[in-house]
This record gives sequence, C-alpha cells and structure tokens, in this order.
Amino acid sequence: MSPMFKNQTPQQLSLIAAFTSAAVITFLVFILGSTGFFPISWQGLAVLFIVVMATDFLANFFFVRYYIFRKIKLIYKIIHRHKLPTDFKADKIQMNQNILDDVDREVDQWAEEHDRELEALEKLATYRRRFIGDVSHELKTPIFNIQGFIHTLLDGAIDDSAVNRQYLQRAARNADRLEAIVEDLETINKLESGQMVLDLRDFDIRDLTDEVFADLEMKAKERSIRLTYKEGANQHFRVRADKESIRQVLINLIHNSIKYGREGGVTKVSLYDMESYILLEVSDNGLGIQPEHLPHVFDRFFRADKSRSREAGGTGLGLSIVKHIIEAHKQTINVRSTPGQGSTFGLTLEKA
Ligand code: ADP
Repeated sequence: MSPMFKNQTPQQLSLIAAFTSAAVITFLVFILGSTGFFPISWQGLAVLFIVVMATDFLANFFFVRYYIFRKIKLIYKIIHRHKLPTDFKADKIQMNQNILDDVDREVDQWAEEHDRELEALEKLATYRRRFIGDVSHELKTPIFNIQGFIHTLLDGAIDDSAVNRQYLQRAARNADRLEAIVEDLETINKLESGQMVLDLRDFDIRDLTDEVFADLEMKAKERSIRLTYKEGANQHFRVRADKESIRQVLINLIHNSIKYGREGGVTKVSLYDMESYILLEVSDNGLGIQPEHLPHVFDRFFRADKSRSREAGGTGLGLSIVKHIIEAHKQTINVRSTPGQGSTFGLTLEKA
C-alpha cells in the first residue's frame, strides 16, 4: 500500500474510492454533455455525482468490510488457539478505525509470544536431557556395585566365609544409597513441579533446631563433633514457614557440617533478628569449599569431593533440595567458606 493510504481507515478508503469514481463518471458525463451528445444540466450532474458517490461508497464499504472480515478471521484462526468468539461477525468490524494496524500489532505480539514459548520449551528440553543424563549416571554406580557383589557371591564367594558377609554388607549399603538417591529425586521432583504445597505456620525456630540437634547427635558423636549455638545468637524466635521442610533444611545443612566438618570439631548455629526477617547460619570448622566450587554447591549432583561424599552416604542432592525449599518460601540462602577453615551457610526466614 502506498504510504499515502497507510494510515487511512477502511471507511476513509471507501470514501476516497467513491469520491474518485463519482468524480470520474461525472466528468465523463460532463464531457459527453458538452459535445452535445448527452446533454445534462448542472443539477443533473450534481445529482449524478451524489448518487454515484453514495452507491459506490456503500458498495465499497460492505465489500471491503467483508473482505477484511474474511482475511482477519483467517489470521485470528491461526494466531488464537482458542475458538473465535461466536459473535465475531463482519458487522463487528470497526470500519472507522485502523483495524489492519491492530491486526499487525496482534500478529507481532503473537510471534513474540511464540518465540518466547519456543525458547522456554527448548530450555526445558535441555534441562530434561541433562537431568536424565545426571540421574542415570548417578544410579549406575550403586547398581554396578550391587551387581558386582551379587555375581561374585553367586560365582562362589558365598561359600567363602572370609568375604561373604562383607560383600553382602557392601551390596546392602549400595542398595541403601540407591534408595536415598530415589527419595531425594522424588523430593526434588515434588519441589520443581510445584506439587509441594507449603503448610505455613508460626513456630519457634530455636526449638526446631534443638530437635534436629538431638536427632543428629549420634552422627555427630561418630566424628566427635559438638553441635551447639554461637554465643549470644541462641535466642528463641518465632518464624512463619513450613516446619517440616525447614526441618529437612536444617537436617541437610547440619548433617553436611558433620560430614565435611573436622573430626573433633564444632558445628555452630546462630540465630539473628534482622528486623524484617530472621537470619539462621550453620557454621563448621571443617575442610571448607574451594572458591571455584562455591557457585556450584547448590547444583544437583555437585560434589567437591566425590569419594568423601559417597563414603558419607551423600547423594549430591542435599543442598539442591535446601535451595529449592528456601526459594519456595521466597527467602534466600548463601554460602561463604575458607578452604581449610570451614564453611557457613546462611538463610533467611520470615518473621512470624
Ligand atoms: P552431598 O550428598 O554430596 O553431601 P550436598 O548437595 O549436600 O551433597 O552437597 C554438595 C557438595 O557440597 C558436597 O559434596 C560437598 O562437596 C560440598 N559441601 C556441602 N556442605 C559442605 C560443608 N559444610 N563443608 C564443605 N563442603 C560442603
């Protein structure tokens, strides 16, 4: 369309076309009249002009409207997944507005949304591929180990009293690992798919930490690690959160501080009132985390020291679960660490 007509409404275009036709026809009749071939008065010419213009305008108006309706209907059918409203009729088209520009805009919007959707789908597909790859890789080791021990036993080791019990125990330990991985995967799946509904209630975070300390006491004793509070940071605070998932967070963080803490060391929990929220920190004086590993500790299946993590029964999913839970609460978690000196995990909780 030439730029001159670009911003005209269909109604204006119909009018211009009608005016042009009426002018041309009236002029031709006037020429014929002036040659004496078809005499017509000035009044006649005026009536002719008005009649032609009115008829042409109406014809154009309805024809253009119908034409636009057909085209737009087709476009909307393509860009709108849902059905068009049943009252979308030709006479609903606003001929005195620049509707083609509106359609242009809607089509552009649709294309942008489509691009965004495609991008998100691609991301999801990559994520799923990586996730399946990670999971099968993680499951392989315990499965191979179980297979190996059972086949060795079947091949005769079962009658060798020097190793048979030991091999069975190792197979059982690997089966336990498999179970732990699957359980953690289920938790992550629930968190990621939004299936986990948070049961937000007010509770005392210091009391909950006491309970977790008591539950992990035996594990801490095995490594002669003391579980305690930082001096002056052990007050009782009421928070609003899903108690059971925060219990899981505390278990994972304190258990890690035992697994990666120094034998004979200490794990300290601190509770701070930060006006708008409560800050909870879990610190250990263990092996710490190398700076290049720090950004990855919350990634699923990340382990700075694979053998140590496996030995301690780790799945590499603990911190990933912690992060998901804290983010589901719309709170934050971070970590700071000095290799050889220890690590501190800090998280925020909503004040009750
Ligand atoms: P894992 O089951 O291996 O413990 P996590 O997701 O809980 O998995 O932790 C991921 C990795 O982060 C661990 O393998 C370990 O390398 C590192 N990590 C976690 N907590 C600590 C800590 N308190 N001190 C040192 N390293 C830690």
